[in-house]
Amino acid sequence: MKKSVLLFLFSALILFFFMPVQSHAATTQTKIILDGQELNLPNEVEVVNVRNNIMIPIRVVAENLEFNVIWDQKTQNVNIQQGSKTITLTVGKQEASVDNSTVSLNIAPQIIKNTVVVPIRFVSEEMGLKVGWNNQEKIVTLASTPTTSPPSSSANSSQNDATTNLVHEINYANNQLVVSLDREVTPVITTLKNPDRIVVDFPSTNFGNLSQPAPTGSMGKLSTGDIPNLTEVRYSLFKNDPAQVRIVIELNNVSSVSYNQQYIDGKFILDLIMVNDPTPATPISDSGKKVVVIDPGHGGSDPGTTSITNKHEKDFNLALALKVQAILLQEPEIEVVMTRETDVYPTRSERVKLANDLNADVFVSIHGNSVLSSPQTTGTETFYYQRASSEELANIVHKHLVEAMGLKDRGVKNGSLQVIRETTMPAVLLEVGFLSNLPEEEAMMSESVQTKAAQAIVDGIKEYLKL
Ligand SMILES: [Zn+2]
Repeated sequence: MKKSVLLFLFSALILFFFMPVQSHAATTQTKIILDGQELNLPNEVEVVNVRNNIMIPIRVVAENLEFNVIWDQKTQNVNIQQGSKTITLTVGKQEASVDNSTVSLNIAPQIIKNTVVVPIRFVSEEMGLKVGWNNQEKIVTLASTPTTSPPSSSANSSQNDATTNLVHEINYANNQLVVSLDREVTPVITTLKNPDRIVVDFPSTNFGNLSQPAPTGSMGKLSTGDIPNLTEVRYSLFKNDPAQVRIVIELNNVSSVSYNQQYIDGKFILDLIMVNDPTPATPISDSGKKVVVIDPGHGGSDPGTTSITNKHEKDFNLALALKVQAILLQEPEIEVVMTRETDVYPTRSERVKLANDLNADVFVSIHGNSVLSSPQTTGTETFYYQRASSEELANIVHKHLVEAMGLKDRGVKNGSLQVIRETTMPAVLLEVGFLSNLPEEEAMMSESVQTKAAQAIVDGIKEYLKL
């Protein structure tokens, strides 16, 4: 028994491996992605969901962060040493000790398939990690800030021997990452999904003095401004001894991305070739048709709220919006444009831009409400922002929607929500009903109610447009 535990410990130490570039076909296997790298989970070790608590195998994660982990079989204690910090967890105990003070867990650590699993929330709070859980893909994402000192710190650079390669400048513009280094080194480049990102690792490389503002903590972010398809470019000293510089380019709304790499004038240049998610064609402006933009809220990495039976708001929004689209397509005087037609996430700014660029006549954003703490809350409400034209549209659509849904009338409200605030045409945001209320959720998820709601929304739009 002891031997196997030891063996397990050792095997857990040899963990880093890079995911192959186009990732495998859909699998129900759970995954943990730490700082952009998928952790190799030992045999059968999995992320588990225990009474709605996402539990992760603590050892694999802690060791990958290079914390010291000791498992005491007799006391069932897991002891984690993170620098000067000591965390002790006990299987079956809802309390952990962190530096001699007691911290409570909302669920006790458990042993599942010979592995101690702990709630993800504990990990994020006590180990300083940013965590995310993609329920559909069963992927836990963890982001650490390296425990080493910041790249620009003088203590760090003084440790560099003469042979260490240094990064002096990182830039991103025109779908191009440009990195200035002392000498040419071939980086390891990995493409990852959810969210789409490209991880560029420079081995045996450290930071020189970057002209970008000194990163707070250890993670730096390039100020790239507003670039379509780009969420952010971040950089960190991923490892020390030997040093390894990591640059992560996080993208959005790309259906595929490839790249070319080369050195020109001593600068490393990574050209990204992106195929964007299909965006609707711009309607012919002189067609005389009214342009109606339908915006199914959330989508892709943004699930929106969660229903009482754990369904995603984004799926309701899309299902209803597609029904609205289908009816509007039959209208000879209306050109309908969708902000999304699949489970993708256009940012709110992109939705606004789409509608404004089209100079649309009407913008309708479709959402489902939720207050999980108050499952008795019900009803339909409609938001507009300040403009009288939006208020008029809101009143008309709301009247039809309330009549069709037959739910409590929560009224038409003035609300500062980005998609209705920053759009320049009459714009409304519909909260059709409460997904956190069981009967209401059931109705909202049903085809027949959605069809009725869709017809009501179309009736409202047509009445507003006097068609
Ligand atoms: Zn929403």
